[in-house]
Amino acid sequence: MGLKEEISKRRTFGIISHPDAGKTTLTEKLLLFGGAIQTAGAVKNNKIKKSATSDFMEIEKQRGISVATSVMAFQYGGKQINILDTPGHKDFAEDTYRTLTAVDSVILVIDCANGVESQTEKLMEVCRMRNTPVIVFVNKMDREGKEAFDLLDELEEKLDIKVRPLSWPIGMGDRFKGVYNLHRKNLNLFDANKTKIERDIVNIENLDDPKLEEIVGEQFAGELREEAELVEGVYEAFDRDKYLAGEVAPVFFGSALNNFGVQELLDTFIEISPEPRGRMTDTELIKPDNKKFSGFVFKIHANIDPKHRDRIAFLRIVSGTFERNTFYQHVRLNKKFKFANPTSFMAQSKEVVDEAYPGDVVGLYDTGNFKIGDTLTEGDDFMFKGIPSFSPEIFKEVQNDDPMKTKQLEKGIQQLTDEGVAQLFTIQPGNRKVIGTVGELQFEVIQYRLEHEYGAKASFKFKPHHKACWMTTDNEEKLDEFIKRKLNNIAYDKDGNPVFLADSPFLLTQAETDYPEIKFHRTSEFK
Ligand code: GDP
Repeated sequence: MGLKEEISKRRTFGIISHPDAGKTTLTEKLLLFGGAIQTAGAVKNNKIKKSATSDFMEIEKQRGISVATSVMAFQYGGKQINILDTPGHKDFAEDTYRTLTAVDSVILVIDCANGVESQTEKLMEVCRMRNTPVIVFVNKMDREGKEAFDLLDELEEKLDIKVRPLSWPIGMGDRFKGVYNLHRKNLNLFDANKTKIERDIVNIENLDDPKLEEIVGEQFAGELREEAELVEGVYEAFDRDKYLAGEVAPVFFGSALNNFGVQELLDTFIEISPEPRGRMTDTELIKPDNKKFSGFVFKIHANIDPKHRDRIAFLRIVSGTFERNTFYQHVRLNKKFKFANPTSFMAQSKEVVDEAYPGDVVGLYDTGNFKIGDTLTEGDDFMFKGIPSFSPEIFKEVQNDDPMKTKQLEKGIQQLTDEGVAQLFTIQPGNRKVIGTVGELQFEVIQYRLEHEYGAKASFKFKPHHKACWMTTDNEEKLDEFIKRKLNNIAYDKDGNPVFLADSPFLLTQAETDYPEIKFHRTSEFK
């Protein structure tokens, strides 16, 4: 098969949700359809249990499990589907954001009772930054939840995206009868006891078909006709180009647990979702069918168990064909590397891959040469655009508790932040190091790893910052002036860019008012 065919066969996406909405359950059902697993329950839940938050070794164990599910690949409908796993735990949100740079589209799972939740909003924000196409799956329709129209309004309002239902629920909770597929115009009937992959699909000519009454009863038939008419009146016809541009999100309803509405989702996904897309360097778009191989590292997993000190860098292939045992250019280090055991991680097994294509992800065993965002090429000098950093929410200054081990501490902090465990900011003068994270957990991880891997001892002093803002301006003088005035709240990120550590929302607004020439950004990537 040629490169073009390999590309057009592939679909690489992520499933995202607020914890507990049903991401794991849906993933598992998709894998069942793909024949990647045979029985329900085969996918280890990578969810980090809430009770374990105080015990990060336990969490690491669970994260170890989740390496096995980093990429789940299966064949369906003539396509090779790659699902990139994203951790649900809030403290690992940065991992998820980075993984979203490696997918071409996402499926967003919403709990029909809870609607849009806090994590849903954040994840969507990241999708919107890159115009990632989104399909929404409204889950748990077998439970009482919000009315479908209200949910759709809530999605549009809170997620700032237009929606277009492609299926429509008939009833809900105990009265849930099934879903009418607005796209294909057929009925999928619900049977809560259904455990196998079988469906009762009834084809009806149109909603006026008297069969509808026979199947769902008079009341539901009437409601469905009315609501379907309303849907067609309120929402524009589905436009695939708008979906691909990230402007409109098609919506499906169902129940992942009952394997209901999942196949419709999958079938439509295959039909409309994008094939592997190119990625930008600073100057150009590298297209997937570019003959020369290129790719970037979006995730690094380090095993903190000292008995298994392996590190895996996950590489998303952007263009060309990746081959085992071939030398490739590590652009940042200007050095050539080859990989004897590039690995693909499947649902239940891992295997060495000889070749991989755009859209694929391979795991490269690494001894510390990679950092998040690194580019590998077939000799070209370009770097893919950096992976964005988001403003951390917790800031702490590193205190060196063993002055004899200063070098080890510096090295450890550098490497751990290169891995993406946390963000590093340096305050001048004094070269003070501030670590920023989205969760408390990372500080425990860093402290433990510094001690066990680098022999350094550190503790952390809380800093009362609220946000880290990257700054851009056309007026360098004003920026210099601001930096001088706010010296105690200015730090430099790992690339040497100045950031403003605002102590409160009020002080941030004040800075914005006093310095209209400066733009303050909550992420390191600006449009
Ligand atoms: P995740 O945190 O998003 O991965 O959510 P899980 O897939 O682990 O699901 C969270 C809980 O919701 C589990 O107890 C599931 O059994 C349950 N669940 C998932 N899908 C459904 C559904 O369609 N209906 C009902 N009633 N429960 C569901």
